[in-house]
Amino acid sequence: MPRYIYKFGAGQADGRSDQALLLGGKGANLAEMASLGVTVPPGFTITTEVSAQFDESGGLPEALRGQVTAALEWMGEATGRRFGNAEDPLLVSVRSGAPVSMPGMMDTILDLGLNDATVEGLARTTGDPRFAYDCYRRFVSMYGEIVMGVKTDDEHGGGESPFDRLLAAKLAELKVDDERELDAAALRALVTQFKIEILRRTSRPFPEEPTAQLWGAIEAVFRSWENPRAEVYRRMHGIDRSLGTAVTVQAMVFGNRGPDSCSGVCFTRNPATGEPGLFGELLWRAQGEDVVAGVRTPEPIESLRNRMPQVYAELVELCQRLEQHFADMQDVEFTVEEGHLWMLQTRSGKRSGKAMVRVAVDMVGEGVLDAHGAIERIDPDKLGEVMHSTIDPDSRPQALTKGLPASPGAAIGRVVFSAEQAEEWAKRGDAVILVRTETSPEDIHGMKVASGILTARGGMTSHAAVVARGMGRPCVTAATDLRVDHARERFTVGKVVVAKGDVITLDGSTGEVFLGRATLVPASMSEEFQTLMGWVDEVRRLRVRTNADTPADARTARAFGAEGIGLCRTEHMFFAPERILAVREMILAADEPGRRAALAKILPMQRDDFLEIFRAMDGLPVTIRLLDPPLHEFLPATPQDIASVAADLGKRPDEVAAAVSSLHEQNPMLGHRGCRLAMSYPEIYETQTRAIAEAALLALQAGVAVEPEIMIPFVSTPSELSLLRERVCRVFDKVLADAGVELEYLVGTMIELPRACLVGDRIAEHADFFSFGTNDLTQTVWGLSRDDSGRFLPTYLDSGWLDRDPFVVLDRAGVGALVRIGVEKGRARKTKLKIGICGEHGGEPSSVEFCHVEGFDYVSCSPFRVPIARVAAARAALRGEARGK
Ligand code: ADP
Ligand code: MG
Ligand code: MG
Repeated sequence: MPRYIYKFGAGQADGRSDQALLLGGKGANLAEMASLGVTVPPGFTITTEVSAQFDESGGLPEALRGQVTAALEWMGEATGRRFGNAEDPLLVSVRSGAPVSMPGMMDTILDLGLNDATVEGLARTTGDPRFAYDCYRRFVSMYGEIVMGVKTDDEHGGGESPFDRLLAAKLAELKVDDERELDAAALRALVTQFKIEILRRTSRPFPEEPTAQLWGAIEAVFRSWENPRAEVYRRMHGIDRSLGTAVTVQAMVFGNRGPDSCSGVCFTRNPATGEPGLFGELLWRAQGEDVVAGVRTPEPIESLRNRMPQVYAELVELCQRLEQHFADMQDVEFTVEEGHLWMLQTRSGKRSGKAMVRVAVDMVGEGVLDAHGAIERIDPDKLGEVMHSTIDPDSRPQALTKGLPASPGAAIGRVVFSAEQAEEWAKRGDAVILVRTETSPEDIHGMKVASGILTARGGMTSHAAVVARGMGRPCVTAATDLRVDHARERFTVGKVVVAKGDVITLDGSTGEVFLGRATLVPASMSEEFQTLMGWVDEVRRLRVRTNADTPADARTARAFGAEGIGLCRTEHMFFAPERILAVREMILAADEPGRRAALAKILPMQRDDFLEIFRAMDGLPVTIRLLDPPLHEFLPATPQDIASVAADLGKRPDEVAAAVSSLHEQNPMLGHRGCRLAMSYPEIYETQTRAIAEAALLALQAGVAVEPEIMIPFVSTPSELSLLRERVCRVFDKVLADAGVELEYLVGTMIELPRACLVGDRIAEHADFFSFGTNDLTQTVWGLSRDDSGRFLPTYLDSGWLDRDPFVVLDRAGVGALVRIGVEKGRARKTKLKIGICGEHGGEPSSVEFCHVEGFDYVSCSPFRVPIARVAAARAALRGEARGK
């Protein structure tokens, strides 16, 4: 009989922490904690295999029933209570838990097993009817929403559930502020109202029978794997749908039991800054859902230290043990029931990029990790946050209000009040700040496109905060002065009214909110960051260069550790306003002498550009790509522009218009561009080469070492490269000879067409290096225009027909296969052939790994991605070592 169930508790467990695929992260770690002797309430986990079956057939396997019954009996022995027993009932929670943590995206039901009979038993054995009915009303409302499908009335406008509305009405009726002040009679009355509401809305009665409740809940949790917010989250984080969720059934412990009871969440270190020391929140006389749902603003964890120092010390000790054991910062959920501490969950804590770096480096200092372990703890994509801007301290405006600093970084944007609006406005290019009373997991699609998130309620561990940190979005929660009026689309702070569309600035590192636009300054990197990058550079084999067209970009990239320029595009130099006229003159010239005359005007300007870039890179290699775009891009398009260009050049408008139309191409992407231009007009590359060579000489004279690499784009036949290389060398060598200087320079090509890969051996005969231009290569391998793919590619991705956007993550199966051919053929002909990549992929971690595996010499990416590529290269090297490569 297949085994569907793994038990844990009472100092032992069937499962282990490395079985997250089978037991979900939550179930696997509960098992691990139980084996470690940490106090966890006993329970059992139903495997993800059942989820897969449920997904396929819509039902549960028959054999599961007996296994669940047996496990419940075992739990009864462990706790001394029986499930469904009216005298002294065992209550359970039914918890979701995917292999990859998806905080709050799926459902959990607490206090299951209560009905009109068992609630009385609970009241008698505890001597606390108020407590018993508090559990009962919680259970009925959760069951109604999650299992029976009672919906909130207004899903988008911050609507409340009907149960919350009845609760609010009861509070108003009895003139109390806090649900903790409701007595047993009031709570019992609520339970009755809730049941009526369920019947009214679903036409089905609330099930009184505990076993029926349990199966209903188990199925509902399996179903929650498919809910829309879980889908969105999976898509965003690239989580495979087929993984499924596990379901954990666990004996309840009660944070709402009395004054010495509480529920809380804590991180073993500060998840925003990485500072050591417990960081968390709790609510007295509450169940855990109250904390994570951000319904009431919780108290800091210090409140436990003040009130119950021993329990606090125990928690600190357990947290340290868990950290040591998992060798990572943990995010734990706990409950104190009448002075007894119970752990309910532990997992690796989500953290800001800054905290990620600090924790990894600190843990090496503490001897928990070694340098390699620290690198393995770094998510390269999150490093970008460390380089995020902050508000300029010198011109820091007066804050409008302040909340909790839930996720660091500064954000500026227009205020919107719903996830839908956020999406709509973001689509038309507006930066938006999503403002909500509290965010629910349903808002995730809006949080994803927002530049920042601001909520009036919730805490540091509310779902809004956790999700925002995970996405690296600046976020401020619990801005309690904020009154959000979702209906009128505005919020107020005292007398100040902020309407939809108004601009505000958030500082997620301090929790401050500012009216209008604050001045931002770019981030400065911490000492820990430098330490980490030192380790990274020792481990990686790939060099990391940058794509930079200007001296300013080149300097930024060097500060981030770039080891050269892998792609310097020259066309922007042509577009500068004071040059475009000369460029147009060149294009419109009737013959070669005319073109040469115009190019002569451009030459000194290009020479200055290159000189500055050589200076900025000071001795590091600089790859300069000769002119690439089709000429029509430099010409005016509208009649007005044509007229004004004609006037500037002293030509007739119809002459200019005729030239424009003669350059028109049906498909410019595949047209007269790249080296094909130089085949027709040799003087263009000759001029550019001369400018590079002269700049190199000037740099040398100024004492700056130079390593120029001239790159010829869009080559498809060996003959193109052979001819153009000869011309480039002739000009370069002549400049050197005239000056009597010797200088090494390279001439290579950008490999960006499938044919170039396939004839890589013959192209390599004329090339000192290959630089894979994977943007164009992806377009041409897929027959997919990047500019037009927006019409259908999103549907492919949303529907799961495609896993990844090939323009973002290098498509190893297709484009990668061609790259491999190109590398093999190239190196077969020339062993020492230098190989790099200069498409957008050069800064994307999985693509960087591909380049490492294929034996590239370097990757090149935009300046801000340089540290990301360095870390990705180091991680690839470590993984390769682990695989013995
Ligand atoms: P999520 O994945 O949304 O965090 P959980 O399954 O962790 O969902 O449950 C949410 C909260 O419910 C937990 O933080 C915990 O406080 C509470 N909870 C779950 N199971 C129990 C239990 N057996 N006893 C007491 N509280 C529980
Ligand atoms: Mg949890
Ligand atoms: Mg290209």
